[in-house]
Amino acid sequence: MNSWHRYGARNALRKAGSAVADLIWPPVSPLTGVPVTAKGQLEAASWGEIHFLDAPWCDTCGLPFSYWVGEGAECAACIARTPVVHKARAALAYGDTSRRLVLDFKHGGRLDALDQLARWMVRAGPDVLAGAVALIPVPLHPSRLFARRYNQSLLLADAVARQSGLPVETNWLLRHRRTPTQAGQSGRARRRNVSGAFAVTEAARLNLPGQTVVLIDDVMTTGATFEACAKPLLKAGASFVNALALARVVKPTDPTT
Ligand SMILES: [Zn+2]
Repeated sequence: MNSWHRYGARNALRKAGSAVADLIWPPVSPLTGVPVTAKGQLEAASWGEIHFLDAPWCDTCGLPFSYWVGEGAECAACIARTPVVHKARAALAYGDTSRRLVLDFKHGGRLDALDQLARWMVRAGPDVLAGAVALIPVPLHPSRLFARRYNQSLLLADAVARQSGLPVETNWLLRHRRTPTQAGQSGRARRRNVSGAFAVTEAARLNLPGQTVVLIDDVMTTGATFEACAKPLLKAGASFVNALALARVVKPTDPTT
């Protein structure tokens, strides 16, 4: 049996297994638990509640603009302070509905929507994925990883890897300092909080010089965590560090101010 036939047979077996699993555990919406036709799908009523991000947006940080202001335009924040992260994108605005999706996934272990979430991220991120050699999930401190059992950024990175074909590198970046929760803090306080919390490994120093990599996380609030991750990667020789999140906080903005 050649490799194509082996792949076909494996695929048929997987599909059959998946059909059996769907009979035993019927697919339900990750938002409401209402039965849906396929794993990871949302019921029709939820689609209107999710705000998908799309251009026009800040060419650098992906903050959506309410109207088109020209190719390559940047938001006021990126003009005022050049971001460390070369380009950042997120699939969803972090609102009531997407918060439920993220929290169910992060704390409830609801993993059935993972491939759907990754598809949305890949659709939002062609600019940040182009030319990259690796996806790097934002690492958790080992003690937090122990408490939560899994790193949600790694799960998202693995799912984005399946869609994009890019490899995931988990041993290039470490979180060597545990940081207090960032909720409710300003951008400056968040940057102080996570500054110096991440470090690169010898493997990163060997592989990074001249390359573009993409950081992956579930939520981008002010970008402080991405920035703290990007600094040591750039210091180790990366040419560009991009970032791709499932959701980001969006504050109303006027691109001309
Ligand atoms: Zn911006």
